[in-house]
Amino acid sequence: MDGTDLARRMVERTAERARDLRERTGVVPCLATVLVGEDPASVTYVRMKRNRCAKAGIESRHIALPGTVGTAELVDTIGALSADPAVHGILLQHPVGEHIDERAAFDAIAPEKDVDGVTSMSFAAMSFGLPGFVSCTPGGIMRLLDAYDVELAGRHAVVVGRSAILGKPAGMLLLARNATVTYCHSRTRDLAEIVGQADVVVAAVGRARLIKGSDLKPGAVVVDAGYNEGNVGDVDFEGALERASLITPVPGGVGPMTIALLLEQTLDSAERAAAA
Ligand code: NAP
Repeated sequence: MDGTDLARRMVERTAERARDLRERTGVVPCLATVLVGEDPASVTYVRMKRNRCAKAGIESRHIALPGTVGTAELVDTIGALSADPAVHGILLQHPVGEHIDERAAFDAIAPEKDVDGVTSMSFAAMSFGLPGFVSCTPGGIMRLLDAYDVELAGRHAVVVGRSAILGKPAGMLLLARNATVTYCHSRTRDLAEIVGQADVVVAAVGRARLIKGSDLKPGAVVVDAGYNEGNVGDVDFEGALERASLITPVPGGVGPMTIALLLEQTLDSAERAAAA
């Protein structure tokens, strides 16, 4: 499943919408990015997201905070962005550091600006099937599955990983589409046996090649959201090719979709603000 190509088409469409919004209303969509500390991977992710914004005609406003910042100051910073009418979306790059209450920081994002889909409100909306923003990586996964016409209703989806930004919401979105969902995590016994029952596997762990080709049921659809050192996913790609009917490459699968959805949801928010 080619995420690069689908994401490129999504970003083109978002750029058209941004141009149209600017011409019609003068509103320039704006994404605020908040980075705590200088973790190299996080710095790279934020830079990639801002570059992609620029290509799509979305302004980005970057706030870099020192790694020593506390929860209260971070919450205040995000609260100010939430209240700023020129800002349409807020991205707080994860992780923010052990000493910070990350949930409190995420929940300081106004739900109508939560274009990365990380607040408790957004999770509830995803879980209850209410309007709201979806978490970008799980949302990107769903768009990829839809683009390849993967049937989900009644099929067994196994999500490996249960983080708040990836595994858990991915399972909720699959459940909303009537898949039978099993979550696996670090305490799961017999992971390979459970993965072997899956029609659809979503790997969201962060352990290189944890899932082997021989674990998979023949014909399974495999989505590898993992990204590990050396451009390696959570699934052994070569081994999986022998059994999977569809599989996402790493890189070029889920990663680009995540950014494409972030931009699309920023446009949704800007359009809504302009219409209000
Ligand atoms: P995380 O917060 O560290 O969560 C990892 C999850 O994997 C946890 O639920 C953990 O279980 C589970 N786990 C750990 N070891 C396991 C094992 N041996 N067997 C089964 N489950 C195990 O990570 P995350 O933020 O969700 O990210 C996961 C991966 O996705 C990473 O590689 C990350 O780089 C990648 N990612 C990619 C994108 C993208 O845009 N492509 C976006 C976000 C993340 P416990 O809950 O029991 O600890």
